[in-house]
Amino acid sequence: MIKLKSQLEIEKMREAGKITAGALLAAREVIKPGVTTNHIDGIIRRYIESHGAKPSFLNYAGFPASACISVNDEVIHGIPGPRELQDGDIVKVDVGAYYKGYHGDSARTFFCGNVSDEAADIERVCRESFYAGFAEAKPGARIGDISEAIQQYVESRGYSVVKEYVGHGVGEKLHESPDVPNYGRAGRGVRLSEGMTIAVEPMINAGAAGVYVLENEWTVVTKDHSLSAHYENTIAITADGAEILTKI
Ligand code: MG
Ligand code: MG
Repeated sequence: MIKLKSQLEIEKMREAGKITAGALLAAREVIKPGVTTNHIDGIIRRYIESHGAKPSFLNYAGFPASACISVNDEVIHGIPGPRELQDGDIVKVDVGAYYKGYHGDSARTFFCGNVSDEAADIERVCRESFYAGFAEAKPGARIGDISEAIQQYVESRGYSVVKEYVGHGVGEKLHESPDVPNYGRAGRGVRLSEGMTIAVEPMINAGAAGVYVLENEWTVVTKDHSLSAHYENTIAITADGAEILTKI
C-alpha cells in the first residue's frame, strides 16, 4: 500500500531531509586520505543526534552503524570500520535521519583527494542520471518513466545499472511501497500522485551490472570489481512536479 503524505507530513519530512543532507555535508568535510570510515560514521551519528534526530540505519535489520560507507567497487551497504581512505578513492556515503516520525534517505559519492578521470565521470553520470529520472517525476507519470530515464541516461554513457537493489517509498518507514527500479519501461508501473514520497537512487557500475554480497552479509560489491557510484535523494511528488527533500 502506498501512503500519501499530507502537507504537514511533508513538512516534517523536509525537516528530516534537511538533517540527512546536513549529515552528508559534515561527512564530505572530513573525507581525506588516512581518515577511517569509522570516523566518518561517528561524525554522521553525532550530527544527526545533535539535531534531535536518530540515525535511521543504526540497528536497522541489524546494521551495526549509522551510515553505509562503500568504497570504490563497493556499491552499497558498506559497514564503517578501521579501513583508512586512500587518495583517489570514491566514497559512497548513504545516510538516513529519523525525525518527528519520518525518515530522510540520501546518498552521495564523494572524492578522497585526487580521483581518476574515470572515477570523476562515473560520479557525474550517476548524479545526472538521478536528475534525468527526477525530471519525469510528476503527478500522472509512472514509476517506469523515472526508471527508463535513469537507465537510458546511464547506459548511453557506457555504464551499467545495478538491478538487484532499487529505490523505494519512504516516510514513517525507511522502506515503503512502491519500489523505484533504476531500469524499466516508460508508461509502466505505479502512477505517481501528489503526496507520494520516494527515494530515487541510481547505483551504477563502470563495468558489468553484476554484484554480490561479501561474507559480512551486508556489503554489496561489483562482481568484476569495477568502480560503482551511488546518488540518492528523497523526493516528494507535488501538485505540479516534484521537490527534493534532501537537497544539499
Ligand atoms: Mg539510502
Ligand atoms: Mg534508499
